[in-house]
Amino acid sequence: MSQETKALFIIFGATGDLAHRKLYPAIYKLYKKGFLGESFAVIGTARREWSDDYYQDVVMDSISDLTESEEHARTFAGHFRYQSHNVKDTEHYHMLKDLADKLDDEYGIEGNRIFYLSMSPSFFGTITSHLREQNLVTDNGFNRVIIEKPFGSDFDSSKELNDEINASFDEDQLYRIDHYLGKEMVQNILALRFSNRLIENSWNKESISNFQITLSEDLGVEERGEYYDKSGALRDMVQNHVLQMVSLLTMNSPKSFTTVEVRKEKMAILNALKDPVVTQDEDTEFVRGQYDTSDNGETKGYRSEDKVDPESLTETFVAGKIFIDTDEWRDTPVYIRTGKRLAQKTSRVDVVFNPSETALYDDKPTVLSILVSPDEGFELLLNNKQIGPGMHLEPVRLSAVRSEETVEESPEAYEKLILDVLNGDETHFAHWQEVATSWKYVDQIRKRWDSYTDSIPFYPALTMGPDEADTLIENDGNNWIYKA
Ligand code: NAD
Repeated sequence: MSQETKALFIIFGATGDLAHRKLYPAIYKLYKKGFLGESFAVIGTARREWSDDYYQDVVMDSISDLTESEEHARTFAGHFRYQSHNVKDTEHYHMLKDLADKLDDEYGIEGNRIFYLSMSPSFFGTITSHLREQNLVTDNGFNRVIIEKPFGSDFDSSKELNDEINASFDEDQLYRIDHYLGKEMVQNILALRFSNRLIENSWNKESISNFQITLSEDLGVEERGEYYDKSGALRDMVQNHVLQMVSLLTMNSPKSFTTVEVRKEKMAILNALKDPVVTQDEDTEFVRGQYDTSDNGETKGYRSEDKVDPESLTETFVAGKIFIDTDEWRDTPVYIRTGKRLAQKTSRVDVVFNPSETALYDDKPTVLSILVSPDEGFELLLNNKQIGPGMHLEPVRLSAVRSEETVEESPEAYEKLILDVLNGDETHFAHWQEVATSWKYVDQIRKRWDSYTDSIPFYPALTMGPDEADTLIENDGNNWIYKA
């Protein structure tokens, strides 16, 4: 039986894209599975003047693919209220408090509140200080704040933001979303590493030649040109998702799966990241790129996208090699690649093992691939004897890829993360120390790139990035395992 939690959600940015695409479906699934019952309510707030009825119709529309019946969906949507709200207006917080207290009584919620900040981070400090000052925070239940990315644009701005939020909420009340940490196969990295002796024993620098993380999108910037042109791939993907994955792949075994122990081991990795060498020459450890028109001329280049500077130097692609300066991993590169308008949408990790020690065969490296999305599962590429005479090898692929149906039925990242918030489990959220340390690493790369103002390497849209990304890895005698 699912454990039901009483909760009032107050969603700032309730008319936005994220709320519609991710939050309402996730909350509905939790309701369907019994993690939320009759004692839950949602107040959606945003600038637009919507009625409760209209809001409930919007919620019903967003869950239309998931509903058991019209009646079930209507009952669920009946828990939602809308309050038009300007985040800077103190008077609105008084109205919000009155509505929150009323719903708390009506649904018997007993003071548990989740404040979901699904808006531009420039408002986070204003909202959290008003929540505290206008007494939206309760004494009789839990008060938790969910914060969307981006958490700042460099170390200084993230620290400023964090200080503002900390003036009203403690770190243990904050849940910074990194939706990669909610993905099944990212969570599975630790299970794979620490529950299989075979893998556990070979997860070291003697056996592993290199790690390769690929987070590629085939889409361009779509409607997010304005945001993206100021951000770029390094800030948008590397500071958070990529470095989180690096820490999960290389951290030591935690003493237990508590938030504190897991964070301790992740932090040990982030603290040990070697300063990146970033130059315009061959010794560089990070390269960038920007998508140009595709080879067939049908897909436009980044500079022609809506709300993008036609002379923009913003990177839509990053490749790099990350080194961890610990006895366990020194000299084992973690190659990373991420970008937009690449040949295929995929998130995966390829773990490339060293050739066998005996040198009897001309063996190819064993490769363990962790498929994060859209396929989910593992693949193991091994050498095996070709049938027939001689001692020749051929590769064999052991595959444990989950069926489309299984993937579809398994909980989506937002559903799992919101459930974690209901349960007060912070393991799969980014702690301030992790965020701060990651920004400090990424800032070093940013600073160098910002000083190279003359040009940026281009790659044709729908390829796997600029030639520089191949040179980076080939200079070490390695190759990208994943080729679209
Ligand atoms: P959006 O632009 O679609 O929605 C923003 C919301 O904020 C709207 O509801 C708008 O009415 C409200 N708003 C703006 N100014 C306001 C004001 N002064 N007072 C009251 N309300 C105001 O944005 P989104 O795509 O839903 O994203 C929300 C947050 O989530 C952002 O921080 C974004 O970076 C993050 N995020 C979004 C996605 C995504 O897939 N959409 C993915 C990851 C992170």
